[in-house]
Amino acid sequence: MSTTISKAAASAQITYNVSFPEAQAHYADIEMHITGLQQNTLELKMPVWTPGSYLVREFAKNIESLTAEANGKPVAAPKINKNTWQIVTKGISSVTVKYRVYAFELSVRTSFIDASHAFLSTTGIFIYPASMLHSPAIIHIKPYRNWDKVSTSLEMVNNDPFTRLSPSFDILFDSPIEVGNQDVFGFDASGVHYEICMYGGGNYDKEKLKADIHKIVDQEAAVFGENPNKHYVFIVHNRQRNGGGLEHLSSTVLGASRDNYTNDKGYQSFLGLVAHEHFHLWNVKRLRPIVLGPFDYDNENYTTNLWIAEGFTEYYQGIIVRRTQLFPVQNYFDVLEGEFNVLENLPGKNVQTVAESSFDAWIKAYRPNENSNNTTISYYNKGAIIGMMLDLEIINDSKGKYSLDDAMKYMYTQYYKIKKRGYTDAEFKAAFEKFAGKKLDDFYARYINGLTPIDYNKYLGYAGYKIEDELADKNDAALGITTTTTAAKKIIVTSVQRGTAAYIDGINVNDEITAIDGTPVTDAATLINGKNPGDKIEVTVTRDGQAMTLPVTLLKSNRVKYNIVTVESPTEQQMVVRKKWLSI
Ligand SMILES: [Zn+2]
Repeated sequence: MSTTISKAAASAQITYNVSFPEAQAHYADIEMHITGLQQNTLELKMPVWTPGSYLVREFAKNIESLTAEANGKPVAAPKINKNTWQIVTKGISSVTVKYRVYAFELSVRTSFIDASHAFLSTTGIFIYPASMLHSPAIIHIKPYRNWDKVSTSLEMVNNDPFTRLSPSFDILFDSPIEVGNQDVFGFDASGVHYEICMYGGGNYDKEKLKADIHKIVDQEAAVFGENPNKHYVFIVHNRQRNGGGLEHLSSTVLGASRDNYTNDKGYQSFLGLVAHEHFHLWNVKRLRPIVLGPFDYDNENYTTNLWIAEGFTEYYQGIIVRRTQLFPVQNYFDVLEGEFNVLENLPGKNVQTVAESSFDAWIKAYRPNENSNNTTISYYNKGAIIGMMLDLEIINDSKGKYSLDDAMKYMYTQYYKIKKRGYTDAEFKAAFEKFAGKKLDDFYARYINGLTPIDYNKYLGYAGYKIEDELADKNDAALGITTTTTAAKKIIVTSVQRGTAAYIDGINVNDEITAIDGTPVTDAATLINGKNPGDKIEVTVTRDGQAMTLPVTLLKSNRVKYNIVTVESPTEQQMVVRKKWLSI
């Protein structure tokens, strides 16, 4: 950054007024005032993506009616590229820019406004002066009609909940804002004030929720040895059916199904989501791959380490809930078995490494197509399994002295706290090696940068467990397709799994299956009932309006369904590892 720009940034003051005169039509009206300008041109930008969600979303597409004025007179503010406006400010010390944002995309990473509330995912709401990313800003919020609350981790100015201070744009873009009539309650844990802000109602029990989330917070702070916030906000969007979450520095946004809190499985999965997003406040928001901060808001930010940033977070969401002792060990095994079975039934496991999966998140994970299962894996899923493998490796090698926690805490201390930067792939590897007490080149070659099948029994064996495939003795035939049935009862192929009968014999995505062996079909679930591996059948499909019959030789289903079972008479060492791993 040049001195001129630094000086300009230091002297400028930025204020936003956010109002919702047409909330019912999903609009926010924004006014930005900048004073103290000392530059000849001012470029205003909107981020193209939101940190934590690795896809270019082009938020500027929702902006309309942008105008600028100086000294009470309009000034030109032409667009110079998809997300940048330019204003000539020679001789002008202050400008006011007005624009509207349309917000009607329901997700944890996009803004949504209606008459009941406004959720402002800030990367898609606030344009910023390109030369002033480090400048503070004041945000005034004028609520719609009877809205009476603002929930955000941005601190209040003069105790006014509707006026908030953003210390820099990096912090503003990591601080979503909820405005409405949300139900707000809180608790204090490890020196931090926690607020839970519930939009949309739900059958939650406030006291139970506070007590259970408190346990999660304590377990996670114990991994890293400190809780770096003063104030942390859970913004929860309760809807008929909702899920997903997005992590931020001092807050998170969670999707929840409003009637799921009294259902055991639903509640455990909600607490898993809480544990996941809250764990991110360390893992990725502070302890982070080197390219993930400071962010480039104009472009993709590539890293091969999302298997740590996301995968380990997914591993920890399960193990942290286990450590709260709120549910039995078998519930945790159900979670792990789910991870194993997702990976092992994906043909993409033989094509894409977990490092490649991380790097290509921008063009593959967030842009899946009908062939994705054949060519890709998820860095969440395989990363979680690798987290388990490294945890067991470290516990076993250190005879129960260390676990993955020690590597995480060491990296947090060394890189976030002492070196104040992100880590490289080699630096995290060195930390695993430090606590495992051995080189992990072979492990990395096999599992991070390679496609070696995972040796579940080796790693689970350290703790005296093994896997059993409950489908191993079955001899079911399979076509190898997924289908959807339309309102008109048409059975349409939605994916064809590599290596299966359908793949080999040429059934295509979008084919309508009309008959098997000449008999018309109406139920996708019973297409090959009574058939065996090796049987030759004739599948009639309609493709592009034309009927055709394809000879297909059925193959044995290659699906697996793993369960974790204990070995007979585990050794003393296996019991040491088991107790440390599962907190039993
Ligand atoms: Zn995550």
